[in-house]
Amino acid sequence: MQRFLALQATLKLVWQGSRYWTVINGILLLLQGILPLGSLYLTKVIIDRLSRVQNTENSPLNVLQEIFVFFVLAVFLMLLLEACNAFGKWVSETQGQKVTDYVQGLLHEKSIEVDLEYYENAHYYDALHQAQQEAPYRPSILLNRLVGLLQNGISLTAIVILLFSLHWGVTGLLFLAIMPLFLIRLRYSKKFYHHWKNWIVQERRANYFSYLLTHESAAKEIRLFELGPYFNRVFKQLRRQIRQEKYKFTLKRAVAEFLTQCWAILTIFTALGFIIYQTAQGSMTLGSLVLYYQAFQRGQGLLRETVRNFASLYENSLFVNNFIQFLNIQPKVADSPQPKALSQPIQGVIECREVWFNYPHHSRPVLTEINCKIKAGETVALVGENGAGKTTLVKLLCRLYDPSEGQITLDGVDLREILLSSLREQFSLVFQDYFRYHLTVADNISLGNSRYFNESHTSYYQTIQEIAQKVGIDRAIQRLPHQDKTLLGTEFAEGEELSIGEWQKIAIARCFLRNSPIVILDEPTSALDPESEAEILHYFQQLVQNRTAILISHRLSTVKLADRIFVLENGTISEQGTHEKLMAKNGTYARLFNTQAQSYRD
Ligand code: ADP
Repeated sequence: MQRFLALQATLKLVWQGSRYWTVINGILLLLQGILPLGSLYLTKVIIDRLSRVQNTENSPLNVLQEIFVFFVLAVFLMLLLEACNAFGKWVSETQGQKVTDYVQGLLHEKSIEVDLEYYENAHYYDALHQAQQEAPYRPSILLNRLVGLLQNGISLTAIVILLFSLHWGVTGLLFLAIMPLFLIRLRYSKKFYHHWKNWIVQERRANYFSYLLTHESAAKEIRLFELGPYFNRVFKQLRRQIRQEKYKFTLKRAVAEFLTQCWAILTIFTALGFIIYQTAQGSMTLGSLVLYYQAFQRGQGLLRETVRNFASLYENSLFVNNFIQFLNIQPKVADSPQPKALSQPIQGVIECREVWFNYPHHSRPVLTEINCKIKAGETVALVGENGAGKTTLVKLLCRLYDPSEGQITLDGVDLREILLSSLREQFSLVFQDYFRYHLTVADNISLGNSRYFNESHTSYYQTIQEIAQKVGIDRAIQRLPHQDKTLLGTEFAEGEELSIGEWQKIAIARCFLRNSPIVILDEPTSALDPESEAEILHYFQQLVQNRTAILISHRLSTVKLADRIFVLENGTISEQGTHEKLMAKNGTYARLFNTQAQSYRD
């Protein structure tokens, strides 16, 4: 049933992705199925007329004329068939590409829609990877197999009827000849899919080492720590393991198929013997002998092709099924059926009530019993040791995940009840692991605000220059060969690489261009020199006047800018208050602050 659904879903994908091509393909398919039968029939007619010429004493001229007409017709049919084949190949290739692009589009849409956990969790990431790798081309293969199956089906039906008219036993032999191949193919298609699910996980591991060896991200360490030979060895080991398993599998399949072919040859000769016997007995003309023998042989070829198509259809439907399951994933972080509107302009009051959070498939809670309220227009700093849960809390605030328990509200409305797009619009955010887009400087900055996605916006370059100046990246941009039109990164030719600090400033510029009522900066100045940091923090202070802001930083000089400080320890807020209050308390914050101050003094 599931296979059938995959088939149905594939046909829907194919139809939606390429309507006209499907119709043209259908017509060609019909012709390709019928034409071979016509030429088969003409061969019989020509041979029968020829044997009449040999046996007759009258003038053979009339018969020869007739033969000539059939001969020309046979040539015409063959040419037409060849034209259909050639044109059909072009049509199905073009259709295949169209369907592939269409499916890829669907895949991208779904990849954006699925929860972040699909990217942050190996368990899900394998499923995502499987779908992404196989989805684009499997539906086209499945379609081709289906087309082949229908094509064969038309020819085969006619041949079966023909052979049945000779003797029902000959038809029986035909099916008997092919049945073992059918069973073996199905069995191995299913096995292949199950093996493939393991291979893909191993292949992903092997590809990871290949990636490390061939990409820039690890190139420095690979040279310095001489990791290359080691990684290459691991890669080879993994590949060898996969290769050996594949060898074994394909060898077993080849042996099984060879045995089924032996069986098929035996049955062919039995059928041939029967047809020769019938001709020798005089109950069949020479033309019929050729017709039936050819029909049997072609029937067998067609059946073999049908089996191959069917098995491949089955195998591909398993893969497509996988993709359909991926398309059917319903994101957990989704819009509520009746989303509530935020009153505009929003005040920016954020409150966490009894918030607990576990990452999916992790038993240990990362956040436990978080209770806090950030007032409108307040700047709050989150401090704590690595792994305390600061970034996780930010992910919950902008609803990349939902709390496992408890509630987070914005202006008193539960985040789960606010329209996702409208909620996310409220945040300007720089993550610790911000992304470096290998696009132009202007693109890198403008991606922060959808109003500027299109460079035809009147104030596009002017706004970008202003913001670049405010975060102190303007001088670096002026030095680039094409200023803000310069391509960044090493991915493409003519790309210019920036320093990490400069990349960080670009990410901050992108965030500030967003101009949202809530600003969150997660370790925003970790790669910046003290002057740049001071410059950015000065701008930040101006920017966040009358806005709610959250700062995560290990630099306690930065933290001092905040109106209030939350100390996160083991997933919960252990202290909160102003700098002075927390210093007076002499707890964790005071310890962290004094340790840093001490190291500066020393
Ligand atoms: P901080 O920002 O305070 O350094 P994080 O919020 O990044 O800490 O991480 C808190 C804890 O959550 C860490 O123990 C980390 O191992 C775990 N963690 C972070 N991200 C994930 C994830 N995607 N899946 C599972 N665990 C995670």
